[in-house]
Amino acid sequence: MTQTKQVIGRFAPSPSGPLHFGSLVAAIGSYLIAKSTGGKWLVRIEDIDPPREVAGAADVILRQLEAFGFEWDGEVLYQSTRLERYAEVLNDLKQQDLVYACDCTRKQIFAQREDRIYTNVCADKNLAANENSDVAWRMRHGSGKYSFNDHIQGHCQFDQSIYDEDFIIKRKDGLIAYQLAVVVDDIDQGINQVVRGLDILDSTPRQLRLYEALGATPPEYYHLPLALDKNGDKLCKQHGAKAIESENASELLVRALEFLSYPTTPDLKYLSPQDILSNSKLRI
Ligand code: GLU
Repeated sequence: MTQTKQVIGRFAPSPSGPLHFGSLVAAIGSYLIAKSTGGKWLVRIEDIDPPREVAGAADVILRQLEAFGFEWDGEVLYQSTRLERYAEVLNDLKQQDLVYACDCTRKQIFAQREDRIYTNVCADKNLAANENSDVAWRMRHGSGKYSFNDHIQGHCQFDQSIYDEDFIIKRKDGLIAYQLAVVVDDIDQGINQVVRGLDILDSTPRQLRLYEALGATPPEYYHLPLALDKNGDKLCKQHGAKAIESENASELLVRALEFLSYPTTPDLKYLSPQDILSNSKLRI
């Protein structure tokens, strides 16, 4: 008899502000899809970009999740505690010559091409860069053929042009880029199911490139539809999306379920957030 592997999913908010309706959709989607097969659901705070963070937001997010009835498995992982691990992986990639240093300034990149796409001019320069050099580290693109079956979006295949620019895994300002941190953590945490917003779909081929380079198996992907504002723009903290309030937790959970086309009943909103979550089985 073949044993199916236990699902390990996650919700990975960046602490750039409190959760809003769009983040609630990602939270409930990832939670219910993982739980529908008896899987685990981990929470990871992606706090590696201090300039974009808001003091105290990580705690606010965790309190919001609790108030909305979410129960995570294990300890919350903070990416800010993982910098040594990211440096170790970056070093491995350097040893294998899968990354290269790039000292181009924004101005130089802008001058190369008007659309601000970097044209990989440093790929063959072999700039001698050490730990403290003022350079970005870019991942050499691989085969350029990355496709995957998304459980919601279907077969996804990306145009070669997405690889025109070798993507950055460590920024010039010394900060580790999202692409590297997210893949290293997903691998180390044994995440095999990634449910997140459609806005991150474009990053997926880059992440597949990293899985390939690190010799790891990518997770199953589910990219959820995006909640939009009145103007048709993605709800986001930077554009002042309203924080979700715990007084309206049950009502907002039901709205998030409806947004995901989950069949709801008129009385569902009178249940506690915990009961709404445990009564809802989202299968895709
Ligand atoms: N930290 C990212 C965000 O808040 C999500 C990353 C992911 O789910 O891969 O948008």
